Amino acid sequence: MPASPGLHHVTAICSDAQRSRDFYERVLGLRLVKRTVNFDDPGTWHLYFGDETGGPGSVLTFFERPTAEPGKPGAGQAVALSLAIPKGAAHGWVRRLTEEDVFVAIAPGADDAVTFHDPDGLALELIEQDWAETLPGYVTAFIGEEQAIRGLAVVTLLVDDCDATASVLEEALGWRECARASHGGFLRLRFAAPGEAGPGRLIDVLKAPEAPPAEEGAGSIHHIAFRAKDDAAQAAIGETLRKAGLKPTEQRDRTYFRSIYAREPSGVLFEVATDGPGFLVDEALESLGASLRLPEKLEAHREKIEAALPPLT
Ligand code: ZN
Repeated sequence: MPASPGLHHVTAICSDAQRSRDFYERVLGLRLVKRTVNFDDPGTWHLYFGDETGGPGSVLTFFERPTAEPGKPGAGQAVALSLAIPKGAAHGWVRRLTEEDVFVAIAPGADDAVTFHDPDGLALELIEQDWAETLPGYVTAFIGEEQAIRGLAVVTLLVDDCDATASVLEEALGWRECARASHGGFLRLRFAAPGEAGPGRLIDVLKAPEAPPAEEGAGSIHHIAFRAKDDAAQAAIGETLRKAGLKPTEQRDRTYFRSIYAREPSGVLFEVATDGPGFLVDEALESLGASLRLPEKLEAHREKIEAALPPLT
C-alpha cells in the first residue's frame, strides 16, 4: 500500500514578507532557502524557510498577501504548528523570544513546550523532541546548535468530522493513529507517519464539531504538504486519494518539487510533493535564498515582476 513517509512542508499566508523574514530567519533561526514568487500569482512573494538545505520535513513557506485581513482559525484548516527543538532548549527559547518582545506561554502540563504567535497571529509551538539532537542544527549568529529548530514536529488540524479525516490519513496516506485524548469536550487523535521518529512525522486531528468554518487570511495555514519519494510514489498516493473519494489535481511543476493537491473531507487542503529535485536545483548551497529565482516560464517577465514585488532586503 502506498504511504507518505512524512510532511514535506507547510504553507501559510503572511501580510508582510519583510516582517516574516525577520521573524523566521533572525528571531527563529530558520534559513531562507528560496525567494521566489507565487507561481499562481507571480506579482507576490513566496518565501521558503527551512534547515540548511530545505530538506523535506523542515520547510515552512509563506505566500505574501499585503492586503489580507487577519484569518480566523476554524474547522477545515490546519491551525497550529509545532517545531522541534532539542531536549533542554525550551528555557533558552523562552528567554530569546521574550527579549524579542514575543509573548510566550508554557503549555500546561508540559514544561518542555513554548507557545507563541508569529507576527500575523499564526499559532506556533517549540517542543523538545528526543530525536532533534540527532540531526544537525542550522547555526546562525543568534542561535547555536543546542537551540536550533530541527523541522516540523506536529501539525494540528481542526476538523468537524474526525473519522473522515482519519480515514484519508490512514487509508490513502498510510499513517497510523498512535494516541488519542479527550479533554474539555474535544477529541484529539494523533497520527504518525510510518517509520522512525523524525521531522514532519506527526499530525494531531482535533475534533471540533461546534467550531465555525475557518476564514482564510493573514496568519492562516494555506495547506500542508505530504512527502512522496518520487513521481511513481506520488501517482500511487494520488490513486488512493481518488479511491477515498477525493479529487486530486493534475501534477504541477513547482520547480523544487512536483505537486498534486486535494481537499480532505473536512476542507483542509492537502498537497503531495515529491522529495526532489530540491532547493539546490537552481542555487548553490552557500547562496540559497540570496536572489529572486523564477521558473523558466516567468523569466521573460522578470523585470516587470521585480518592479511589482514589495522590497525585501
Ligand atoms: Zn505547498
